[in-house]
Amino acid sequence: TPENDDDVLPIMTVKNMSLTPSPEEEFQKKEARPVQIVQANKDDHTFELNESALEKILLQDHVKDLNVVVVSVAGAFRKGKSFLLDFMLRYMHSWMGDNDDPLTGFTWRGGCERETTGIQVWSEVFVVDKPDGSKVAVLLVDTQGAFDSQSTIKDSATVFALSTMTSSIQVILKLFTEYGRLALEEVSKKPFQSLMFLIRDWCFPYEYCYGLKGGNEFLDKRLQVKHNQHEELQNVRNHIQHCFSNINCFLLPHPGLKVATNPKFDGRLRDINEDFKTELARLVPLLLAPNQLVEKEIGGNKVTCRDLLEYFKSYIKIYQGEELPHPKTMLQATAEANNLTAVAGAKAMYSKKMEQICGGDKPYIAPADLKRCHEEIRNCSVSYFRSVKKMGGKEFCQHYQNQLESELEEAYTNFSKQNDGKNIFYAARTPATLFVVMFT
Ligand code: GDP
Ligand code: MG
Repeated sequence: TPENDDDVLPIMTVKNMSLTPSPEEEFQKKEARPVQIVQANKDDHTFELNESALEKILLQDHVKDLNVVVVSVAGAFRKGKSFLLDFMLRYMHSWMGDNDDPLTGFTWRGGCERETTGIQVWSEVFVVDKPDGSKVAVLLVDTQGAFDSQSTIKDSATVFALSTMTSSIQVILKLFTEYGRLALEEVSKKPFQSLMFLIRDWCFPYEYCYGLKGGNEFLDKRLQVKHNQHEELQNVRNHIQHCFSNINCFLLPHPGLKVATNPKFDGRLRDINEDFKTELARLVPLLLAPNQLVEKEIGGNKVTCRDLLEYFKSYIKIYQGEELPHPKTMLQATAEANNLTAVAGAKAMYSKKMEQICGGDKPYIAPADLKRCHEEIRNCSVSYFRSVKKMGGKEFCQHYQNQLESELEEAYTNFSKQNDGKNIFYAARTPATLFVVMFT
């Protein structure tokens, strides 16, 4: 049991969205909050991962082994990300809410309005039953960048790269200009999953109608590569299409003047234009309805909450002190993290089995027997590593296999020393016993 309430993060199970939550769930809902997990440090352009906070969220017993759906909303400051996320939260709780309920969640909360470049996640991980009977964990992510100077562009690009690599559905507010910086090298298999461009305040519904249909027509037109275009722009378009399995675009109308300009606006539905609400009611289920949820995959493997934590750690390490995350390095980083995670898994498997044979609480065993066990378990561990689907090609993965093998040898050396120690302990005890006998 956890020592204090701070250690318990609320989790809510969405079994039936129309059910009124129990008082307990109501309480958990109130405790939930946005948690800053990655922060870009403006002064020295480093990134910090709040590992313990992320751990508390992702390693909750109910969710740690579930496949994760990471829905992230990315964009610059004041683009309406929090506004949209708050409606996503409402969708998970009680869609669409009452006319006079103020909107709460990511936005109107003291302390969360600071304009930090980085990644926030909602502390409540939602468990959703998919129509096929499987359960998935849904994590909502707010990714914020700044695009006001050259140095912050680098920070933002890194933050967006992290978000792209870790999410299964990414919603981008504002088109291309910023995103173009993250274009990737052409790859044979599409590394990322769903991308949704969200264009707000759309004012040409007679040209392209609101919603997904108009959005996709508009997107097709914009993504068409024309020969007279600047080469760089052509590349950006090609790359986006090569990197995501699924790209959509949605056109949202203006929410009305109260939303855009009234400082007293608190998010209540009554103050929002009807056609905006109509489109919003179509958009959010497109992203979050149980049959729409896309599980996060990396290199063809579904990712659990526990894996996601490892990926975050690996990605942050890779980007520490890097230059602007070049498109190419984003893909390399994915392959690298993918291999590192497989190494960690294989090593954990080795250690667990060895602990069962010669852990601290186990008696001394003959070195020759220990060696035989080690060899057998090492082979299992290496075959496990080889069986995990990985990105980066044969040579690249071989490098990580070598790393694994040398780490296993090192672990074996330690287990052997520990085992020898037990032997000395036994040997040392014998004279001590004799000593006592002599004096009594
Ligand atoms: P964030 O910084 O991206 O999280 O932006 P916020 O969600 O805090 O919203 C910034 C401002 O834009 C708030 O005053 C919102 O009321 C307003 N807003 C939200 N959505 C829209 C939209 O679709 N159009 C317009 N014009 N304003 C919006
Ligand atoms: Mg915000």
